[in-house]
Amino acid sequence: MSAPGREVVLAPGREKSLEKRHPWIFSGAVHSVGKDLRDGDVVDVVDTDGKFRARGILNRKSQILVRVLSFSSEDTVDDAFLSARVKQAVSRRHGAVTRLVHAESDRLPGLVADRYGDFAVVQLSSLGLDLRRDVLVRALAEKTGVRGVFERSDVDGRKKEGLEDRVGLAFGEAPPELLQVPERTHDGRTVTLLVDVRRGHKTGAYLDQADNRRAIARRANGARVLNAFSFAGAFGLHAAAAGAAEVVNVDSSPEALALSERTAAENGVAEKIRHVRADVFEEFRRLRAAGETFDVIVVDPPKLAHSPSHVDRAARAYKDLARLAFHLARPGGIVACFSCSGAVTPTLFQQIVWSGSLEAQREAQIVERLSQPEDHPVLLTFPEGEYLKGLVCRVL
Ligand code: SAH
Repeated sequence: MSAPGREVVLAPGREKSLEKRHPWIFSGAVHSVGKDLRDGDVVDVVDTDGKFRARGILNRKSQILVRVLSFSSEDTVDDAFLSARVKQAVSRRHGAVTRLVHAESDRLPGLVADRYGDFAVVQLSSLGLDLRRDVLVRALAEKTGVRGVFERSDVDGRKKEGLEDRVGLAFGEAPPELLQVPERTHDGRTVTLLVDVRRGHKTGAYLDQADNRRAIARRANGARVLNAFSFAGAFGLHAAAAGAAEVVNVDSSPEALALSERTAAENGVAEKIRHVRADVFEEFRRLRAAGETFDVIVVDPPKLAHSPSHVDRAARAYKDLARLAFHLARPGGIVACFSCSGAVTPTLFQQIVWSGSLEAQREAQIVERLSQPEDHPVLLTFPEGEYLKGLVCRVL
């Protein structure tokens, strides 16, 4: 039992989300915070009757006042507990290139870790785990045996937690400027991704799309492929390796395109892949006006809805992209639309793509539904963890 001055007391009737074992306690659900508590402390959350409900870490600067780590009063949330959680998450993974820890879904709120062979990259976005960074990094290093752990704690969420960005070496040896990362192709060979863990998006690469790159590549043999929002060109690389006749990568970032060019050369497919620096919306219109058509079109924009209040605007942008892509697809061709906005549900996304096809006056069928891979699991009690969806459509 914790002392009264050290507890968080829920507002009357606000136990519901904890009964459903949701790991976030919002400030609006809280009646009072014990006077002896400091942000970053491990706290017990009790209901108005004083009954234990959860144990987590407090941060009054955040709208998420407590991030729950356990629903059992038997668990002591200390360094050994957190270290064990990290090691459990790692032991659920296999392979040398994989997400190791997927935050809430691995019961470590605000911790992401990816492994690229001999190196791992961590990203912390909650005060509670940020304060315990050294324990988490040590556990990761011990369990994986990696040579170095680089930190990329430069994510938006940190501001809301009252945290400054932090980027730098967290353990061991510094990774090289560009990591050569093998990725399996759909037919069991490998391609090599070049990953810049210091400056690349996320932890350096989009590991969450690995299965989906193979799903597209399966349909790319002999095809003319348009890869929109290509970043470092991974979808295009897989397509080229699968025998695509031609790939056009489109992105607005010169750094991403430069990395993509180097990656294509590294894999011996440079002559098949063209790079276009442009806004995708404008480039799609230009291609249509020029009468260009494609057999396979991948549309993988950045997150367009950052919160539920942005869904309407994002839906219009997703629909416009789908419409423009359908216009450019040949009969029998494939249009693969993705969304990584958690606020856009799979059902809504299907409606959006449908609207896009209607406006383009194209009939199409869904031939495959894509989502996030096994190493990006969704905790059943944390549906917010489901964010990535893709619809592979065949144009009739
Ligand atoms: N498909 C990639 C990930 C895409 S990330 C992969 O599998 O690795 C989104 C990309 O969209 C980023 O590279 C960003 O530079 C680019 N981008 C964002 N807005 C854009 C726009 N309006 N036009 C072109 N590219 C854009």
